[in-house]
Amino acid sequence: MTSIHSRLQAIRARIQSVRDDYGCPQAVHILAVSKSKPAADVREAFSAGQIMFGENYLQEALDKQAQLTDLSIEWHFIGPIQSNKTQAIAQHFSWVHSVDRLKIAQRLNDARPIDLPPLQICIQINISHEESKSGVAPEALLALASEISHLPRVKLRGLMAIPAPTQDIAVQREQFKQVRLCYEALNAKGFALDTLSIGMSDDYPIAIEQGATIVRIGAAIFGARR
Ligand SMILES: *Cc1c(COP(=O)(O)O)cnc(C)c1O
Repeated sequence: MTSIHSRLQAIRARIQSVRDDYGCPQAVHILAVSKSKPAADVREAFSAGQIMFGENYLQEALDKQAQLTDLSIEWHFIGPIQSNKTQAIAQHFSWVHSVDRLKIAQRLNDARPIDLPPLQICIQINISHEESKSGVAPEALLALASEISHLPRVKLRGLMAIPAPTQDIAVQREQFKQVRLCYEALNAKGFALDTLSIGMSDDYPIAIEQGATIVRIGAAIFGARR
């Protein structure tokens, strides 16, 4: 067994045990974040049963996709989005997790090819109010979600967040909980969201405890990035 294969198996087992421990009812999907890793690593993870892969940088992702056209991978874009990249993103990905303003959602909507299903999107929310971070402020979330829900070629599935890094488990838990509360508030207003994209290599067990349905895991699958 390769190390990618065995790490994936260990993560799957850990996810199952966290779900058992906390009685988590939701299904939890692993998004394998392959940024900075070669196509060969993606191929190896795919052969171990991994279907969903996340990339942050458009050109790097397109290069990798071109080497992997024989695999039925579901590609997710998770990085910051500049306007001039929306057309290629809308053409080459199934999901986008990092939508944080209407203009970007509109451009993705307008560029989504008609022969593909609607682009599945998550709104990225800036839960820790960090100035440097992308993401919509919680106060502006409802308005943005309402506007996006009227766009026909994108489908709003849920929320994504990257909380401020901290070693303090209680702070981590509280940040994830705030994202979940925003998600539940939208659903209480009639949005049928089913995706909470929270948790990375270092904190995914706590994210699952707080309701994560997609955990975005890079280093714990592929090894540390340089
Ligand atoms: C890099 C990245 C990840 C994965 O981080 P790891 O710590 O390697 O698991 C997840 N989400 C986003 C948005 C990222 O940029």
